[in-house]
Amino acid sequence: MDSTYKCTNCGYTLEAPAPPEECPSCHEKCEFVDVTCYIPECKGRPTDERLG
Ligand SMILES: [Zn+2]
Repeated sequence: MDSTYKCTNCGYTLEAPAPPEECPSCHEKCEFVDVTCYIPECKGRPTDERLG
């Protein structure tokens, strides 16, 4: 199951099994954060509300 990763530099999001080494959008070696359960589409965890 893929996770959703978001580039902390440009905000680009992508679904992948692991965060990319280089951002496909800004082409920098950005830090990617796992936002899988921070997005509205994910209804699997009650922590969603806390995380906004
Ligand atoms: Zn980026």
